[in-house]
Amino acid sequence: MNWQEMIRKNATTADDIRDYLHLSQEEYEAMKEEIGMFPMSVTQYYLSLINPEDPEDPIRKMAIPSGHVVFTDGVLDTSGEHTNTKLQGLQHKYRQTAFILTTRDCAMFCRHCFRRRLVGKDSEEIAWDLEAVSKYIRSHPEITNVLLSGGDSFMMTTDQIGRWLEKLTVLDQLDFIRFGTRTPVTFPQRILSDPSLTHLLRAYAKRKQIYVVTHFNHPREFTEESIAAIRALQKAGAAVKNQTVFLKGVNDDPQVLADLLRGVTRLGMTEHYIFQCRPVKGVKSRFQVPVSRGIDIVQEALAMQNGLGKSADYTMSHVTGKIRILGKTGSGEILFQYKQAKDPARIGKIFTLKLDEEAAWLPETIEL
Ligand code: SF4
Repeated sequence: MNWQEMIRKNATTADDIRDYLHLSQEEYEAMKEEIGMFPMSVTQYYLSLINPEDPEDPIRKMAIPSGHVVFTDGVLDTSGEHTNTKLQGLQHKYRQTAFILTTRDCAMFCRHCFRRRLVGKDSEEIAWDLEAVSKYIRSHPEITNVLLSGGDSFMMTTDQIGRWLEKLTVLDQLDFIRFGTRTPVTFPQRILSDPSLTHLLRAYAKRKQIYVVTHFNHPREFTEESIAAIRALQKAGAAVKNQTVFLKGVNDDPQVLADLLRGVTRLGMTEHYIFQCRPVKGVKSRFQVPVSRGIDIVQEALAMQNGLGKSADYTMSHVTGKIRILGKTGSGEILFQYKQAKDPARIGKIFTLKLDEEAAWLPETIEL
């Protein structure tokens, strides 16, 4: 079976999971309702990682609707992606980086996804005109790298990925090409069952550095298959990095987070970000952890790492930029720093804010 056929076997309805997860009638009805609002799609592989006997299983939380009333507070575009869109599918928020939405597809629809406005839905936000994208980049010499994301960029066919690489790797101004993909975690068969992808990456890695940024959130996601997928990408010449979303009931525990970071380092990846979960509709109430508690947990987990394992920044991807959450001051304030900013004058700026103990996000406007 090829990977496209495997994806067609994903669990997408409450009926598909009813018996396996022993759903009560109430949970079944609530899931049907939630799936109507935010579609579900779980690979058979990721489903097999769930402990069906544990309703609080962290893997289950990332894949399966809650089975309770869905609170739809929050917004769908938390980072102002629409205002950063320069042409269809291309966002240019930070000077050096062009961000391309290459597909609306994902192997699995994560329940905590911040792009749920487009994942698995009809979307007019996807880039289809490669020449227009290339032209935009050429006319902006300040762009030094491109991030191909979505959705999940490895859900494109290998031929489609090849077309992007052919177009982009000839641009001298680019230092590297980055792929955003969760397939090593949710669907390693995409990489393992289709060697044409790693052959392609190996060929283009000779021309331009390739980074793959993936998304492990829990130590139980390190399996024989996911490890083999990471190894295959590394062998193809890609530098692999991880970013984690900090999630209530999944990794908001110092030991769990510490084990995750150790697993990342053990595999020769570096942890790029631990992202504060965004206030996304239907995600906020289920997954957000208050910043104050988050600082304590992240610091405890980082204290358990050696130097290499301490590379992650606990960060909020805010509408104004990427804000590092540095820690607490003696007077009960929280210390932040702009790592990236829409307004370049803010980059590097440190500021403090007095936040409510339960606050999980910053206001839209930040006075410096
Ligand atoms: S793989 Fe990424 S884009 Fe796709 S559903 Fe998960 S978090 Fe969202």
